Amino acid sequence: MRQPLVAGNWKMNGSQESIKTLLSGIKSGMGRVNNAEVAVCAPAIYIPMAQAELQDSGVAWGGQDVSTEASGAFTGEISTAMLQDFGCKYAIVGHSERRTYHGESDQYVAKKYAAARAAGLVPILCIGETLEEREQGITEEVVARQLDAVIELEGVAALANGVIAYEPVWAIGTGKTATPDQAQDVHQFIRGRVAAHDQAVADGVRILYGGSMKPDNAAELISKPDIDGGLIGGASLKADDFLGICEAAN
Ligand code: PEP
Repeated sequence: MRQPLVAGNWKMNGSQESIKTLLSGIKSGMGRVNNAEVAVCAPAIYIPMAQAELQDSGVAWGGQDVSTEASGAFTGEISTAMLQDFGCKYAIVGHSERRTYHGESDQYVAKKYAAARAAGLVPILCIGETLEEREQGITEEVVARQLDAVIELEGVAALANGVIAYEPVWAIGTGKTATPDQAQDVHQFIRGRVAAHDQAVADGVRILYGGSMKPDNAAELISKPDIDGGLIGGASLKADDFLGICEAAN
């Protein structure tokens, strides 16, 4: 049985003041959540605040990206050890915004996945097609290519220590959610692709949906057999909305 995971991706949003309010709102509303594991991925500079506020709250925290390198002359990068130094459990890798704006290739993302996993962090591997790719009918080809890069580098067993997030790029931040059936089709394809290598890993790996998930559409999405929770952007910035999604997994 896979425990649902609802993870917030705050992206480059917030201030000390707003994040304090958000964290205390999430913490105090955790009584509403009785099934999902809950996590927040904060901008790196605010991770110490997440650690201070969320200790013993039942909410995990993580980074939105991580370096492939262990340490040294990599200006601006954050290492796995740094995330761990501040108690992070999760690290998002390969978010479409990093693939698009920072030119991260499938192979580079796979290296990030490997670095996070080797350090004992749980990587959240984001994969998903653009609108153009969906319209060309190559959604499966795209997500297979993104997934295979990790399997080729690390072997399928590496997916047992991670989480996959299917995030159709056309649904991220646009208000256009994939229908539950559209999302389930791709989730089923992803699980099947993993199963072709290893059925047990496929049965165990959590595949989150991400893309304009909100309290009012979350339950229907998460009720699908291969959708094991959500990676939430915009709606994770308001405690009540985020908790509403966590509750939808109850
Ligand atoms: C995301 O950025 O991972 C995401 C899913 O964003 P949103 O929920 O805002 O579409």
